[in-house]
Amino acid sequence: MEKILEVKNVEKYYGNNGNVVKAIDDMSFEVLKGEFVGIMGPSGSGKTTLLNTISTIDEVSAGHILIEGNDLTQVDQKKIAKFRRENLGFVFQDFNLLDTLTIHENIALALTINRHKKSEIDNRVKQIAVELGIEDILKKYPYEVSGGQKQRCACARALITNPKLILADEPTGALDSRSAQMLIEMISQLNKALGATILMVTHDSFTASYCDRILFINDGRIFTELIKGDNNRKQFFNQILDVVALLGGDLRDVR
Ligand code: ADP
Ligand code: MG
Repeated sequence: MEKILEVKNVEKYYGNNGNVVKAIDDMSFEVLKGEFVGIMGPSGSGKTTLLNTISTIDEVSAGHILIEGNDLTQVDQKKIAKFRRENLGFVFQDFNLLDTLTIHENIALALTINRHKKSEIDNRVKQIAVELGIEDILKKYPYEVSGGQKQRCACARALITNPKLILADEPTGALDSRSAQMLIEMISQLNKALGATILMVTHDSFTASYCDRILFINDGRIFTELIKGDNNRKQFFNQILDVVALLGGDLRDVR
């Protein structure tokens, strides 16, 4: 299977000589094309730092991160934003839709910035909106649509460039359990039906149970890995609960 993401011996330190925090400590793993991988771990274990280094928002202190063989630790800083727009999609906790843009314009944003042709943008937005069942609300503004429709819009925006990898940091973190379930089912659908490769941080065992594989991290290192394999979601959920208990029970971020 083709490797989409390779994290090789990544280290990330914060601070200076006197007071150094090792946020990521020699971490290595791979994500294959079409995989849906979860990352769980206690607060402060390095989850956001890891996602930020993969999203090129933060630089690694040592090691390499490859997206389809391209080492993003070697990409020229001037080209990094373009690299990010062309290769990565993001689903944030609060969706980050821009209030002054229509749903259509929000979904189209990355293509507009990349100066794609208007006809091509319109076609792509329409196609993805149909796939996600939001073709009727494209002319509306975010404040005119429901929470569930905003979620779909956020997913459509993450998918619009056909990103090699979708990164999600606690996408269900701020939602009630019903909305959280709707969102994770949609993300799972992006993975299963559209073949999107997804790396998702979550503290929630139910959300995590939709993944193919979970990396548990602790003190900046991979502590263990769980693979769903032939287990059904309920069985996988119970296995996740066991590891969470081992890690200290509560993985919720203290905010
Ligand atoms: P998580 O997302 O798992 O809660 P983080 O990646 O946010 O963990 O943090 C990992 C460690 O790195 C923590 O000890 C945190 O205090 C530290 N850290 C994160 N960001 C910074 C920063 N900008 N400056 C200094 N220390 C940081
Ligand atoms: Mg975090």
